[in-house]
Amino acid sequence: MAEEDSLKRTDETTIAELRELVSEFVHERNWEQYHTPKSLSEAISIESAELLENFLFQPDSHLPADIEKVTDEMADIFVYLMSLANTLQLKSFSEEVYRKMIKNRQKYPIEKFSGNNYSKQ
Ligand SMILES: [Mg+2]
Repeated sequence: MAEEDSLKRTDETTIAELRELVSEFVHERNWEQYHTPKSLSEAISIESAELLENFLFQPDSHLPADIEKVTDEMADIFVYLMSLANTLQLKSFSEEVYRKMIKNRQKYPIEKFSGNNYSKQ
């Protein structure tokens, strides 16, 4: 329990801090050998499928009664994503997200896509 209490829990936690938390967890278990880019990409896909399972055969507007099952899978995806960023030795994942959002803004300009998704282009 003391170990759990030492984990910082706030929306102010940085991506770099979360990457370090994941890195420590992996290192303490000597799991670096398994955290290859391919395996981590597969793990992200598997966890994404687990997230989808919460909505299987439900209407689009379905909200699961147990939201923790959903947030567990969201966290699993994020943890593997952080581990992939670590394995690839990305300098700053935040920077990569900003870079990609700039590309997304260029690809989907508001004037053209406001209220229209890309499938209606
Ligand atoms: Mg999972």
